[in-house]
Amino acid sequence: MSTLTRPATLSDAFLESLVARVPSTSGGTWKLTEVYTGEHLVDLPQSTPEDIERAFETARVAQRAWAATPLRQRLAVFKRAHDLFIDNALTTADLLQAESGKNRRMAIEETCDPPMVMSHYLKRAPKVLAPKRRGGPVPLVSHSTEIRQPKGVVGIIAPWNFPFATGISDAVPALMAGNGVVLKPDNKTALSPLFGVSLLEQAGLPKGLFQVVCGEGPDVGPTLIDNASYIMFTGSTATGRTIGERAGRNLIGACLELGGKNPQIVLDDVDVDEWVASTLFGVFGNTGQICMHIERIYLPESRYDELRSAFVRATEALRIGAAYDFEPEVGSLVSVDQMHRVLSHVEDAVAKGATVLTGGRPRPDLGPAFFEPTVLEGVTTDMDCGVTETFGPVVALHPYRTVDEAVALANDTDYGLNASVWGADLDRAQAVAARIEAGNVNVNDALATAYASKGTPSGGVKQSGVGARHGDQGLLKYTDVQNLAVLKKQVLGARPGQDYNAYVKQMLTGLKMMRRTGIR
Ligand code: NAD
Repeated sequence: MSTLTRPATLSDAFLESLVARVPSTSGGTWKLTEVYTGEHLVDLPQSTPEDIERAFETARVAQRAWAATPLRQRLAVFKRAHDLFIDNALTTADLLQAESGKNRRMAIEETCDPPMVMSHYLKRAPKVLAPKRRGGPVPLVSHSTEIRQPKGVVGIIAPWNFPFATGISDAVPALMAGNGVVLKPDNKTALSPLFGVSLLEQAGLPKGLFQVVCGEGPDVGPTLIDNASYIMFTGSTATGRTIGERAGRNLIGACLELGGKNPQIVLDDVDVDEWVASTLFGVFGNTGQICMHIERIYLPESRYDELRSAFVRATEALRIGAAYDFEPEVGSLVSVDQMHRVLSHVEDAVAKGATVLTGGRPRPDLGPAFFEPTVLEGVTTDMDCGVTETFGPVVALHPYRTVDEAVALANDTDYGLNASVWGADLDRAQAVAARIEAGNVNVNDALATAYASKGTPSGGVKQSGVGARHGDQGLLKYTDVQNLAVLKKQVLGARPGQDYNAYVKQMLTGLKMMRRTGIR
């Protein structure tokens, strides 16, 4: 039995009120536990395929009225929600910590993501969603307008590592564009997104528009995808492939935000103190369970010993523990299963010749799923952690001789989600960054600068995904384009009785003229 005191906010009545939103006619439940202790928190209802179909029907009815609501009125809901989310950040952080085991510093940062996304699109949506009038094929007598229509009801499938950010932030632009949403969070981390939906409704989001269904992925996924107008998925590359296949069969669009094996290249003019401070978060933030976190670090041979000892020393000084306060710098992994996955990667590496510079062990004295921040050396591509995502607090250090070699090693992966380059000479660092095959590259930071830049699309290349969130693309993907074309007078084609040879000559000359004069 643990001595940890659970926050008073997480009363049984509060948790029951959150899960009451999940439709479940079967009465089946899933035991949702507090990660730090393994103790039971609440029974999470599980949705049947029929429950999911009904959730879509309800959302579709609400969506029709919502899409007909003027954009200004829709956005007013998110203006109110923005402040409400910030006012409730501490309660959200309590839920996030209990369900995921993350430390409080990370939990608070996660609560800021939906308000940041709301703030960005509150400014940008009126411009991006406005109809855009363009010229038609014949000047003066024709024009065409690009009109953005909501897709309908968007299905969102979210992972456990950032359940509030992926569950709520990805729904915000979909809703602003006039869609309904049916969200399937991971069973382990359903509480914070359920709370987020209740906050949106308090801010005025019409009831029924944003549904949450729960269940194991393979049970819920097929019905969800078969009923959705579009799929927004965040999770592993393996699951992304399954989801993409089904979306493809149904001829609906999908945005797939998947895994990574993210590299960092440190150049020889790096400021060691700044690099260490930032990279500790880049590696061990969220206990290494950030899709964009760094798992491979390439250090210049000329400064390898100095940089390695500075990083190992700082790793050993990290405070790790279970607490609902800001003291621990590193929290728990999400589950005992995840801890075993991380342990197996470390054991496999050691068995094949890698060296543990620090860490490498579970910490059952702190909680069932704790694992020490771990630094490895001598990792090769025949080891699990040399090629596949570990998704835990484990990083491998590698020396390199030339920058070309470092770039080649960084790119020697099937993934392409995020990368980081460090160096005092910004031009040089940016030139190296441009050579890395990744959807995001941070110069002099590990990941946060790219992720928090909400105006720029952020997604993966290679096996790390298809599509992007954030930026105009992150809003437009939830819309279909309607090309509304108007011809004021029938001038296309030959006039009645006109010689066709003469018409063709006139038309071809006209085409040349229009390009030369810049009309078309
Ligand atoms: P996962 O793929 O196992 O599960 C993600 C979600 O998909 C969960 O809700 C799960 O229940 C559901 N799911 C599983 N099988 C399914 C199926 N057959 N049909 C429908 N849904 C199904 O991933 P995870 O372990 O929860 O999350 C960790 C992974 O997510 C890591 O690989 C991480 O890199 C990735 N991730 C990527 C991003 C990004 O933006 N690129 C962000 C966060 C996490």
